Amino acid sequence: MSSLESAVVASESDTLGHFINGEIVSDQRRSAAVFNPATGQVTQQLALADQATVTTAVDAATAAFPAWRQTPPNKRAQILFRYKQLLEQNAEPICQLITAEHGKVIDDAHGELGRGIEVVDYACGISELLKGEFSKNAGPDIDSWSEFQPLGVVAGITPFNFPAMVPMWMFPMAIACGNTFILKPSERDPSPALLLAKLFSEAGLPDGVFNVVNGDGDTVQHILDDDRVQALSFVGSTPIAESLFQRGSACGKRVQALGGAKNHAVILPDADLENAVNALMGAAYGSCGERCMAISVAVCVGEETADKTVALLKDKIAGLKIGPGVDAGNDMGPLITKAALDRVTHFIAKGVEEGAELAADGRGLEVAGHESGFFIGASLFDRVTSEMSIYQDEIFGPVLCVVRVDSLDAAMELINAHEFGNGTCLFTRDGEAARYFTDHIQVGMVGVNVALPVPIASQSFGGWKRSLFGDLYVYGPDAVRFYTRRKTMTQRWPANSQAEKARYAFPSS
Ligand code: NAD
Repeated sequence: MSSLESAVVASESDTLGHFINGEIVSDQRRSAAVFNPATGQVTQQLALADQATVTTAVDAATAAFPAWRQTPPNKRAQILFRYKQLLEQNAEPICQLITAEHGKVIDDAHGELGRGIEVVDYACGISELLKGEFSKNAGPDIDSWSEFQPLGVVAGITPFNFPAMVPMWMFPMAIACGNTFILKPSERDPSPALLLAKLFSEAGLPDGVFNVVNGDGDTVQHILDDDRVQALSFVGSTPIAESLFQRGSACGKRVQALGGAKNHAVILPDADLENAVNALMGAAYGSCGERCMAISVAVCVGEETADKTVALLKDKIAGLKIGPGVDAGNDMGPLITKAALDRVTHFIAKGVEEGAELAADGRGLEVAGHESGFFIGASLFDRVTSEMSIYQDEIFGPVLCVVRVDSLDAAMELINAHEFGNGTCLFTRDGEAARYFTDHIQVGMVGVNVALPVPIASQSFGGWKRSLFGDLYVYGPDAVRFYTRRKTMTQRWPANSQAEKARYAFPSS
């Protein structure tokens, strides 16, 4: 174990603290247990930041801002390049921490970290991204330009399901733009964020530019209450996203709040079914269904398509390897908490009660040697209808619902009527159908024969409807706009300096 890793993975009796002003700070006035979901055991305690700790973090970020703002973008990029290298060199310890606290299989953890590193890679181009806009001769002897200035102290609040990637959707771009940052990661799996912060510091980031405060909803309230925090990026469940958007906007902060999802995949009769079902398996059951882009509804067009899809899915579900994420070869790890396990189990019972056909039942799974772990198998419901709660609600577990419809239009009506609009996908060989689907579907991220259409780092990520509150998406070009404020200068240097008469008409060019 490296010295860095051991500094984060405190001995079991220690309490995990915060990373403020370049060092680990501990306050133990309030704490919460962190579990290993594969064993169901508490591994350590986590300090939950109170108002005093949040104030200390905002003080540090405020003090660091003037010098960081003045640091030329290419110098910021040099630190980001070193950071990217350190992230790659430390990928294994970071992913071990992700698996230990989240439970996902180690390959999946590497996939998550890889997508986060891609954002750092994009942020390395910050000199190009911050070039601004220039108009020469906007009027007689007049030039005009817009530049994009950092906001100041900004904050990010992130969910448990991607403890490295979702924070990395936010802080690399915010910091590259010249802001200082306070991250409040999920209290369920906080260690990866602490290691990310320590590595950034090792890459040469000045103290106070990136701070991590651990905590819960109360901690977030203290961040909201601090007038010095200019902007908030939030990713999590829809009720909290909506409330945070309203509360943050009401106190004058810029807010983007990404919420929950119910992502549909449509399977047309002409689809390459074997490939479509393989893609569905990964998208529905990968990460135990705990992804905001997980496919949780398969909409099959035609009875024959549905029958074949369900039969293939059942076969593949029977072959899934479920167990601790650290064991290479497992496809699916445990759920995050006992509460999540109870919630998913409850939804499965509800689905049966509501009349859906339970084609595969994941309940009651026991993994030998891990009997107290939060494991559940993959479940599949057939003949689900839009009135059922298993169709309407985000279950956030390994439960796939099959809905049968008779046309592409009926499938699209269903998707467009759903309250969420995060991701969707169409499986087909028909280009015309694909073009019609991508044009008219009311969803933010759309795949054609791609089950998880998560945009690359040079695009931006975000959903429609109640999957996102705010105007701008996370990472990519939208992040530059979200984390900066436009300032437009108009400047006149007349060639001859003869006195001019006062003009009372509104100036035009
Ligand atoms: P969550 O909403 O419970 O928690 C998210 C964050 O909010 C955590 O840091 C948590 O500590 C904090 N929080 C908790 N209570 C709060 C309160 N009252 N006020 C303010 N903040 C509070 O979400 P989760 O269970 O960690 O994550 C799963 C959810 O996140 C799912 O709904 C999933 O769809 C969503 N998610 C969405 C995206 C997306 O891009 N749209 C990505 C990942 C996850």
